[in-house]
Amino acid sequence: TSFRGVTGVQTCALPICFPVTITPHHRNSRFLVVIDPGHGGKDPGAIGIGGLQEKNVILPISLEVTRILQQQGIDVRLTRDSDFFVTLQGRTDLANQIDADLFVSIHANSMGKARPDVNGLEVYYFGDRRLSDTIHRNIVRSVDMHDRGVRRARFYVLRTSKMPSTLVEVGFVTGAEDAAKLANVNFQRQMAAAIARGIIEYIQRNLR
Ligand code: ZN
Repeated sequence: TSFRGVTGVQTCALPICFPVTITPHHRNSRFLVVIDPGHGGKDPGAIGIGGLQEKNVILPISLEVTRILQQQGIDVRLTRDSDFFVTLQGRTDLANQIDADLFVSIHANSMGKARPDVNGLEVYYFGDRRLSDTIHRNIVRSVDMHDRGVRRARFYVLRTSKMPSTLVEVGFVTGAEDAAKLANVNFQRQMAAAIARGIIEYIQRNLR
């Protein structure tokens, strides 16, 4: 007997098999994603045009990514859910201790006050780049901004997390184009939706 189970179409080895119906809401519930809004508290991260602070831009984006994933039945833990300081080690220790499936760090970029001409998205990986590629593709498809591509870097949180990880730089707080966008709630929502879609696509293609 063939039936649809949590892992797709399976052959039932039991004498009596029941077709298992799983609603979309519950289909992703065995996955655990850590969302890591960078900086916080005493560490504002990059400070950009008009005093725009990285920590304040990436928190609402991270909270919205979390909301969307939870709506899809995916379990999420945030390394911070408000404005407090967390060490880099504390961030990956959490992900490793709870044996998360994915680690997604969210940051905003800086090129210094003298370079308002530098704008755009960067997505970083160390090791496997599939999660970064998938999220990058989803952002480029739906968010209106310059694209600086997928890049490799030995960032602490990427090196020390034991699960597939990525670090998304959602734009430059020091960039004239990006700063205006990053301060805009609609842009923040579009960015969050694109990141969430990328995470969901990765789960569906690689973890299911
Ligand atoms: Zn940062």
